[in-house]
Order: sequence, then C-alpha cells, then structure tokens
Amino acid sequence: MSTRVRSVIRVEGVVQGVGFRPFVYGLAVRLGLGGLVGNDERGVFIEVEGTPALVAEFTAALRTSPPPLATVERVSARAVPATGETRFAIARSTGGGTRRALVSPDVATCDDCLREMDDPADRRYGYAFVNCTNCGPRFTIVRDVPYDRPNTTMAGFAMCADCAREYHDPADRRFHAQPVCCPACGPRLRLLGRDGEPLAGDPVEEAVRLLRDGGVLAVKGLGGYHLATLASCESAVAALRARKHRQEKPFAVMVADLAVARLLCEVDEVEERLLTSGARPIVLLRGHEEAVSRVAPSVAPAATSPASAGTSVAAPAEASTVSSGAAGGLEDRWLGVMLPYTPLHHLLLRRLGEPVVLTSGNVSDEPIAYRDEDALARLRGVADAFLVHDRPIHTRTDDSVSRVLRGRELPLRRSRGYAPRPLPLALGLPRPVLACGAELKHTFCVARGTHAFVSHHIGDLENYETFRSFTEGVEHFLRLFDVVPEVVAHDLHPEYMSTKYALALEGAHLVGVQHHHAHIASCLADNGVTGPVIGVAFDGLGYGLDATLWGGEFLVADLVSFERAGHLATVPMPGGAAAVRQPWRMAAACLDVAYGGAVPEDLDVVRRNAASWDGVLALGRRGVNAPLTSSAGRLFDAVASVAGVRDVIGYEGQAAIEWERLADPVEKGYYGHRLTGSSPFVVHGADLVAAVAEDVRAGTEAGTVSARFHNTVARIVAEGCARVRETSGLSTVALSGGVFQNALLLVRAAALLEEDGFRVLTHERVPPNDGGISLGQAAVAAARDSQG
Ligand SMILES: [Zn+2]
Ligand SMILES: [Zn+2]
Repeated sequence: MSTRVRSVIRVEGVVQGVGFRPFVYGLAVRLGLGGLVGNDERGVFIEVEGTPALVAEFTAALRTSPPPLATVERVSARAVPATGETRFAIARSTGGGTRRALVSPDVATCDDCLREMDDPADRRYGYAFVNCTNCGPRFTIVRDVPYDRPNTTMAGFAMCADCAREYHDPADRRFHAQPVCCPACGPRLRLLGRDGEPLAGDPVEEAVRLLRDGGVLAVKGLGGYHLATLASCESAVAALRARKHRQEKPFAVMVADLAVARLLCEVDEVEERLLTSGARPIVLLRGHEEAVSRVAPSVAPAATSPASAGTSVAAPAEASTVSSGAAGGLEDRWLGVMLPYTPLHHLLLRRLGEPVVLTSGNVSDEPIAYRDEDALARLRGVADAFLVHDRPIHTRTDDSVSRVLRGRELPLRRSRGYAPRPLPLALGLPRPVLACGAELKHTFCVARGTHAFVSHHIGDLENYETFRSFTEGVEHFLRLFDVVPEVVAHDLHPEYMSTKYALALEGAHLVGVQHHHAHIASCLADNGVTGPVIGVAFDGLGYGLDATLWGGEFLVADLVSFERAGHLATVPMPGGAAAVRQPWRMAAACLDVAYGGAVPEDLDVVRRNAASWDGVLALGRRGVNAPLTSSAGRLFDAVASVAGVRDVIGYEGQAAIEWERLADPVEKGYYGHRLTGSSPFVVHGADLVAAVAEDVRAGTEAGTVSARFHNTVARIVAEGCARVRETSGLSTVALSGGVFQNALLLVRAAALLEEDGFRVLTHERVPPNDGGISLGQAAVAAARDSQG
C-alpha cells in the first residue's frame, strides 16, 4: 500500500463566484483524491488526500490552470495526518470572521450561455438573464460578503427545481453560480410607456419596434439605465441630445459583434482583445468611411467652428472651418464602440440588426439612474418607453472607457467590468488606508495589505447626489473588503467635497497629498514601482503649494515626497472658473503676456470676442478674480481658441480633444520654445500661443498648426526631463495627468524620451486623469505610514 498524504490548502485572490469550487472538485475527482473544498471569508479552503505525487499535481494545477475568471494570488499548503478519506466533497460556506474574499467585477455573457439563449430547445431560449459561473452580474448585485445568493439582489428569487439541481451539481457549469435563474424562476422583462404604464406584447419585440420608429428607449442594464436610439437615425439621435441636454459630447455606440465594429472602425489586435474581453469597455476607435452611411452625424459631432459654441461671433475665419490635412470629416472622427455585455443587449441588437447609440440614462451631468422609481421619474420626458426588469441594481456602475496607445490599454474611465478588482501594491501596507480622491471624474480607493481597491467611477463631486454615491460607496467598500481605515488620504484643495469629507472623519490619521504628486504616485503604483522618478504631471488644475493653481509640472518624486523641478510659467485665469468654460479668456491672457500688451487686432480670436476682450484683459492684468495658473490644460485651451477651434466648451477637455484631432499626422515641424532658470525651471508657454497666432495670421492650415503645437509640447516634455536628469541623475519618467489622454502628445513625447535613453512609464490600469488620483493618494499615504 502506497503512502497517503493529506494537505490543507488555502487559495486567495478573486476565487469566489468564478467557478473555482467546481474546478477544484473536478480536478480532485479526476485525480482520484479524497477531501473537501469550501468558501470562507478569506477565499477558498481545501483539504486533499492521496498519493504524494497526485497531491503535488493537484496543488500545482491550482496555480497553473484555474478557471478563466479567477485570479489566484496565493496558494499556501501545510501537511496534516491522513485520515483515509477517499471521497471528495464540497463543504458549506461559512460566515462570520474576517471578510478577506474578493468580489469579482461583472462579466460579459459567455459563449456557452449565448448558445443556450439561441437554442430553441433550451429552457433558457431567448431568456434575457441567462448566466453561469463564468459570466453575469457580480459587483453590481452584491450587497454583502461572502458572495452568496442571499447577499445579492437575487435573494428575492427562489430557485426552481431545475435551477436548484444545476446549482447543487458540482459537475454543472452553474454549480454555485449565485445569480442562476431561468424563465420559470428568475427576473422578468417588462416594457413600460412614457408614464410608466405597462405596454402589451413581447417587451423585446415592442422595444425593437420603437427603436426602428426613431424612438428613445430607456434600458435597464447592469450598473444603471441607458438611453438607446438607432445610431443611423439622425432625427432620433438629435432628439436624444436635445432631451438629455447634451449638445456636443460624443455618444458611444453598441454594435452586435466584432464584424460590425470593423465595418465602422479600424480595429487592431489589442483593440479586438479589449472589445471582446469580459470587461467589455467602450473602446475609442478610429472611424472610417463606411461609418458615414451607418452612423448619424449627431452621434459624434465633429468640431465645426467657434460659432457652434454659441458665442457672439463674426464670420468664422478660414482656419476655423476645420478641415484637417487629410480630407476632413469622418476619418478624423473617433467613435466609442462597445459590444453587448448582457443577454438583453444581445437580444436587442440581434433583433434590431443595426447599431444603437447607448448612453447613460441621465440628464446633462447628473449621475446615471439605477433605481427603478428614480429612473422613471428622472427620465420621464426623455425616454419614449422603458425596458425594465425586476432584478435590483445594488451599485451604480457606469460603462468603462479605454483606448489603445503604444500597443497597450490606456484606461480613461475604469468602472463596470473592472471595479472592484484589486490592484497589487508593491509595498505591503502597515495600516489600512482610505484615499478620498479629488473632485472631477471622482473615484476613491480602499487599501489594505498588498491590495488597492479603486472604486467604480463616481462622477464629478459637485452635487449632493454624487456626494452621496461617494459616501455610500465608501461604506460599501469598507464592508465588502473588511477594512477599518486608520489612515485617510485627501487632496490639498480645501474646497473639494472629498477633502471636507476626509477632514470631518474622526480618529483617523490624515495625510494630505498634493494633487500632482498623487498623479505621479498613481502612475508609479500603476506600474508597480516606487521611484524616485522624474514625473511630468500635465492636467487641468490642481491645488499647488504656493497659492497658484498647478497643472504643468515637472517633479522629482517617489511615493513619499516630491520636489518641483520645473513648471509652465504662470498666467492669470481671467474670471477664474469662467476661464475654464471659455478658453478664449485663456487665449486673451496668454496673448497679452506674449505680445507684451500689444495683441494684434487682426487676430480672429480678438475679433470674435471683441465685445468683452478689453474687459477680460483688464481682469487678468489687475489680478482680481484671476488666479495664476501653470496649467498645461489651460495652455491647450488657449491655443485651440486662437486657432479657431473653440472659444467656449460644453464639457471638460473639449477644446483640447478637438484640437488634437485636427493635427496633421505627417507634419513634423515645431515652434521655438524657452526653458529658463533652474530649481524650478520655467517653460514659457505663452510663446507657443504667439507662435500659433502668427501661423494663423499667415494662413497656415489648421492641421499643420495643431501638429506643430503638439510636437513642440512633446519636445518641451523631453527637454524638461533631460534638464532634470542632469541634476538628479534619474532616467525614468512617469507621464500622468489628464493631458496625457492626448494620444498624439503621449506617443510623441514618449518616443522622444525613449530616443534619449529614458525609461517611460504610462498608465495601464487606472486613468491618467483624476480618476486615477485616489490610487496615488493611497500609495503616498501608505509609503509615509511605513516610514512611521
Ligand atoms: Zn455563462
Ligand atoms: Zn429556474
């Protein structure tokens, strides 16, 4: 008789709700081993018994071939005396104790489930809520841990006998799939009219008819309500814009499959992987010619002229009728595209047979609606009908948005499908941390041990509704991940709601983190390094250390501290916040500096804004209600206005986005630029505004001007870093801040830096914009806490 051994094994990571126990069960049975497997608050526990070779093979397989949705972080094993057990069983879940198990993000419908949905002989044929251990809702339905049905919003649906059989059968794909259900026992669809009255007929069939007729349909999704219209129907998309009060920000489009995505846009290998991933983000893709006939112009309105921004405008100048170096039009247009990620989306798209606009169910800047009564109330007058169901959404979660740059994912909004998957931290935390984030594109972060849980996208923390999402979100995360924060990190801006929230917390150790230090720390944590590095933080605005608003910063930074090595020269923001909404005010301030008070009057930007021009110049010169800023974002705004792209914006970053898209990719020219002084050195950004103005006066084509400007900023980044390298000896650069969402700038700056021998770190897991700030704050707070 051969020796038998028994091993107690613990598996940690994302191992619950992802089919891990059936996998373990199947593995043990196949190898003929005895023992048991179960879930508890820390993850999965296993006892296994058999010959030493087979037990070793079993243990290795836990790491090497886990189910697709699992993330195994640690497998620890210890030997115990063998008991002679030969059967393998699945143990009951245990509650209580500490909650260390990790909740999975929501996952797009898998191919097996789709096959069942399409099979007329299957009992889930055409069922809008089919799911299994490999797919379906997770984070959005979880109320508590451990992840078990009674702790989800499926608690109210008692399983029928057929579903219960699948749920309890270790050999079944639905073994312990918490949201398992079928038409007999699960959630049901309903179609409601404008005023919430039930409509007769098959809900999907009738919803498709309404869309075909050019109507606006509200659809309950995973993390909230969407508004849908036919993407090809200009009048429907225009109506949606008008009713949502969203004039210019592009809409995302959902297409049935990859083939349709390719008809509309260029899709490379990395983009394909992203589009079809379980997370199914909106991917920004370059649209091509066919898009013209399939997508209505209102889906992604192209930049036209400053007149479209509603300022008082004389006849738009040549340069402002925006045609790029190429033929102009759609090939310049980026389209946000996503594939269906719930069975309901699949049913709708297949029956409809063409793409839909799918945008968040809200009016202007409110958070997306996710509670049924609230959605009906808020979207009344916006939607012509509501396609709803009775499975509650516990956590509001927006669609994630990504693009691909330099062959890698660059997240722009990290939310559904990503949150709350933990990000690994290079250094373990001595004490649990809550990082409260910034203000715009807000996220928060809860961290303990070696895990950072960055929240779903909360939105702009500017009203009670988003603030409540933030505070409720914090409570939910602390509970899910069993964290009692002892260290609380926050921005230095005293007026941010997130800062006020942090300061009001009692008993916590507070750590204030400068905004741009947090950006660079976020990029370091994103890349799993600790620094020191040269950090280039270019963004809109952040609270500085010297009573100016920063945003064009060269730092020498590690996770603990930073020094300001260089920055853009400060210019006044005439009218403060008004200068953010009206880029022409920044143009006025920069031109005034560049031309020493004698701005050429033949400039179109001067003519277009003649009525208020002198008043705004005076504001800037007097320095009253004109805070000084070194922001790179404001510099982009100023040149975009001077070039005639946009004098007034409708959403954050709009002028810079349209300015980037204009750029002629072939143009290699750049402008003269000055970096003067040292510690910190100063970059004279106003020079660039004057250079752009001179090019515009000379009648240079807008695409050429845009490219020259971008090339110059890329050179400034590279030359600034070279200066810092001379004094610091550092040769790694981290690029962060919202300005580095700009593909042209990021790609060209990174190329110049790499040519000059730098190692370049960019974002891959959290956004470079303020959505990534909370991770940086957490990393800084942890590093300082480690120093004691
Ligand atoms: Zn499935
Ligand atoms: Zn059932």
